[in-house]
Amino acid sequence: MAGVFIDVKVSAEIAGDADIARKLEEVCPVGIFAAKEAGVEIVDDNLDECTLCDLCLEAAPKGSVEIVKLYEA
Ligand code: SF4
Repeated sequence: MAGVFIDVKVSAEIAGDADIARKLEEVCPVGIFAAKEAGVEIVDDNLDECTLCDLCLEAAPKGSVEIVKLYEA
């Protein structure tokens, strides 16, 4: 389930990449990404803590992570 205000989308190309998963887990200050053996997992419970800091966008290949502001939709 997505958060109330924010949804984070990770493209299929990087979802299974353990290195990028670790990087995302490291950079996100509110723990939205969890690095698993199978790749990156979104921690739904933390989604609404997103500060829109854009660190995840910088850590992953361009366009592979998307922050969706649901309240603007
Ligand atoms: S924008 Fe910042 S707080 Fe939001 S998911 Fe990315 S790294 Fe985490």
